[in-house]
Order: sequence, then C-alpha cells, then structure tokens
Amino acid sequence: MLLEPRTVKLTTRTGIDIRRTLPNARKRTIGAWCFVDHFGPTAQDESMVVAAHPHSGLQTATWLFEGEVEHRDSLGTVQKIRPGQLNLMTAGRGIAHSELGLRQSSSLHAVQLWIALPDEARHNAASFQQVTEVPRFAFGQIAVSLFAGTLGGHTSPAVVFSDLLGAELRISGALTGKIPINPMHEHGILIVSGTAKVNGELTPADTIQYLAPGVSEITVEALGDEPLLAILLGGKPFDEEIVMWWNFIERSHDEIVAAREEWNSHGPRFGQFEDQIGGWTPAPELPNLILRPRKD
Ligand code: MN
Repeated sequence: MLLEPRTVKLTTRTGIDIRRTLPNARKRTIGAWCFVDHFGPTAQDESMVVAAHPHSGLQTATWLFEGEVEHRDSLGTVQKIRPGQLNLMTAGRGIAHSELGLRQSSSLHAVQLWIALPDEARHNAASFQQVTEVPRFAFGQIAVSLFAGTLGGHTSPAVVFSDLLGAELRISGALTGKIPINPMHEHGILIVSGTAKVNGELTPADTIQYLAPGVSEITVEALGDEPLLAILLGGKPFDEEIVMWWNFIERSHDEIVAAREEWNSHGPRFGQFEDQIGGWTPAPELPNLILRPRKD
C-alpha cells in the first residue's frame, strides 16, 4: 500500500514546505512511528528556524542527510546535529525545544520522525540523547545506518520504549538488495531521493511503501542511475488508542486541553529556556469538537 505525502507549511519563521507521509489517511502509525516529515533539500538561502514549542507523550527523532541544526530544550540541552548522528528527544510528560538550521550557506536536508510513547512511559521525566555512532552495515548492495531499534542482529544505542526499528538505506546505483525483517512487525519504506521498487511495487520519492505484518524480506530495487536514499521504519503494531493534536500525544480530549492550557499559560510542565531565535509558539485554538482516541 502506497502512502502519499501532503505538503505542510512548517511552523517556522522561514515558511519552508515539508512533505508529511505520516499520519496518513490510509495509515496512522507504523509500529510506534506516528509522524514522518521530510524537510528539504532547501535552497541555500533557506533554513529551519523553529521557535520554542512543547511536546508530550512522544519522542522526536531527527536525522540529517545534509546541513547542520542546533537543538535547544528546557532541560538545558544545547546540541548541534550533523549527518549520520541521531538527536532523540524523549518528551515524556513534557518538554519544550527549538531548532535552528546553521550554516545557511549550505542546503539542509532531514527527516523528523515521532515515536508514540506507550502508556507506561508517557509520564516519565523528559530526557535528551544524541547518538553519534550508529551501527553501520550492509545487506548486499544496501548500506544501512541503524539509528533506532534492532535489525540484522545489530541494535542502536538509542533508548526507545517499544519494539521498533529505524534505519537509513543507501544504494549507489541501479542495483537490488534484500533486507530480512521480523514478520511479526509492520514496515514502511520512505523514498527520500531516487525511485525504487519495494517488493515489486513502484515507490516514487516522498512516498512510503507500507508492508503489513507477514512479510519476512524486503527487496529494494533502485531504478535509474541516481543513488537511492530511503528510510526504513518498522515495529510491532502500536495497539494503544491515542489522541494526537498539534505537538501533543495524549489519551483523551481532556488531557489535550490540559496540555494546551499549561503551555499557553507558561506553566511549569514544559519548562523554559533561552535561544538565539527568541519568542515561543503558542498552541492554536482547538477545533470545535471532542477529540476522540484513535488507533489503526
Ligand atoms: Mn518539535
């Protein structure tokens, strides 16, 4: 099943469009992965300027292909990230952060992914982890950088709270590779650049080819001479009903209302910090309806 992107204006001072493939009308989560944004590659005079905003009930996983971004958060973290590194922020009950693209003379190209926290972990204190050395290995012609979870006997040091995997895949030309996967899990491959066939299905750039549980091998065939760059996500199907609104993942309408009010009134739950961007992003008005818990 092919998941098509929608173009979204990121809440940023620079007005850059991003392509969002999760949540999707056809599929809301892949394992606990619940949000997939593809950002850039930007023109050289554009970058990412995302002022302070909150999160709850999720982890943000930021992975760069080009450029450099500075992350700051209400734990006091100040951390630059470069290609090949993972920034993993665990919001738990609440955190605030900002993201600033650096080196604006070069292009920025990244994905930002969210992982829903299971109920037993969503009230934990917030934390931040940078993984500078992720496992790198190959399946035949496919070069793999495993930034989260377990694949092929390798495990990323990134701390996650459910059974999942996240990896960058590269194929250098018109070649084919095979990846053994856990048939109890569901998977999705986001094509970042190039075009591929995934288990025989044509998969253009900026789409996700979704594979339901029951598949034990993924065949990726890079089409054309352009190098193929992709992100593989997978995991045990996330069976909790969640309410996802703006930057919060909760379990009920009332919990969303409480998180929104606490952020907009500068309460202590999300904390505060200083950055070079300045200002903060207020939560928008809630829609005039009761938000219902959903699952796939
Ligand atoms: Mn954020």
